[in-house]
Amino acid sequence: MKIIIEPFKIKSVEPLRFTSREEREAILKQAGYNLFNIQAEDVLIDLLTDSGTSAMSAHQWGGMIEGDEAYAGSKSFSRLEQTVRDLTGFRHIIPTHQGRAAEKILFNLVGGEGRIVPNNTHFDTTRANVEMSGAEALDLPIADGLDPTLIADFKGNMDLEALDSLLEKEGPERIPLVMLTVTNNANAGQPVSMANIRQTAEICRAHDIPFFLDACRFAENAYFIKLREPGYANKTAREIAQEMFSYADGCTMSGKKDGLVNMGGFLAVNDDQLAGRARNILIVTEGFPTYGGLAGHDLEAFARGLDEVLAEDYLKYRIRSVAYLGEHIAALGAPIFQPPGGHAIYIDAKAFLPHIPPHEYPGQALACELYLVGGIRSCEIGSVMFGKTDSQSAQFKPAPLEMVRLAIPRRVYTKSHIDYVVECIESVVRKRDEIKGMRITYEPPVLRHFTAQFEIL
Ligand SMILES: *Cc1c(COP(=O)(O)O)cnc(C)c1O
Repeated sequence: MKIIIEPFKIKSVEPLRFTSREEREAILKQAGYNLFNIQAEDVLIDLLTDSGTSAMSAHQWGGMIEGDEAYAGSKSFSRLEQTVRDLTGFRHIIPTHQGRAAEKILFNLVGGEGRIVPNNTHFDTTRANVEMSGAEALDLPIADGLDPTLIADFKGNMDLEALDSLLEKEGPERIPLVMLTVTNNANAGQPVSMANIRQTAEICRAHDIPFFLDACRFAENAYFIKLREPGYANKTAREIAQEMFSYADGCTMSGKKDGLVNMGGFLAVNDDQLAGRARNILIVTEGFPTYGGLAGHDLEAFARGLDEVLAEDYLKYRIRSVAYLGEHIAALGAPIFQPPGGHAIYIDAKAFLPHIPPHEYPGQALACELYLVGGIRSCEIGSVMFGKTDSQSAQFKPAPLEMVRLAIPRRVYTKSHIDYVVECIESVVRKRDEIKGMRITYEPPVLRHFTAQFEIL
């Protein structure tokens, strides 16, 4: 059989609410043309994010009932700790309510004025946490990774030469750790090769600098390695993931991605001293070290999710179903970031709407149009998220890429939902020349994409 079907059947359903185009026009205007401000029930297909939007399995829901709510020494924490330890090999597992809480603790401890944190590409909360500590968040992606049209296997890789010369120049005094994000979310969800992980680790070790993974999508990355990297075809996704973690000194993780849960995260480290200091902050800001910011039932579901996500039939379906969306809309003439990544399809809004310059936010304009046409919620990842306007010179500095991300929640939508998305994009392709640019009318000082307001030019 060639067809790859959803490796699950549906036990519990959630109805969708249909709206008319007129209703959506009013809703969007009311929301200040920011899709984060729209009520979820006014969205038909919600591709805003794959974060915390997964459908849990019956086994996970069963675990919710069995979750041990003890304040100290919860059985569910022990299960999560054991699961993470078997997977990662790290000594200290520090639970947090989500990924950014782990980042906040880590960069509180190792960041600060004058320090630099390199990463293949920082995710937005990672960057914000590094910068809030006073340190500089430096992206070192490979040049090929920034070309949306190039087809290559591992476009999420770190630029090893640039990393080596940076570490040579600055040393451990200024660089508290190096991070590698797998898969590279902010760079179109592109995978990182095992060779790149290993070599990044070797460079770090040569300079006596700790190496951390931002492991949010470790399972999807492991499956790309299995499919694409010589020598891994006959290894299991679990073995590949274990090897990935074996090169690192620690990681941050958002369970809301490859943990297959709606809430959860952790910080894991080998360094005893760092772990002790992290737990001290944890107790003040998240909770006791055997629950972090989580309920016992969250810990239980998270432990189970971390096992389920490594099932090969799941990963095969996951990677293939994302590629299916990408291939179909690319065939219709929607330029996408090639090749399709692990959790999302990124439409290249600059190429899709060449008549809208970056300072008029082509990505935002396209995201709004997708909502108007079909009630589809997507996410701009371009100059709204990463562009800056210098307050002194009023100079606009665009993001390197203008993308619209169609993130696919795990185990939530079926093939016909995705076919509907394809049909909507087909109609946007036909009238793309009529789409207009946008102007920001309000923006907050940090992470402006969440709350900015816009108007149509
Ligand atoms: C989602 C994400 C985070 C932050 O995790 P949250 O659980 O949303 O706080 C960090 N890094 C990457 C790569 C992510 O995708």
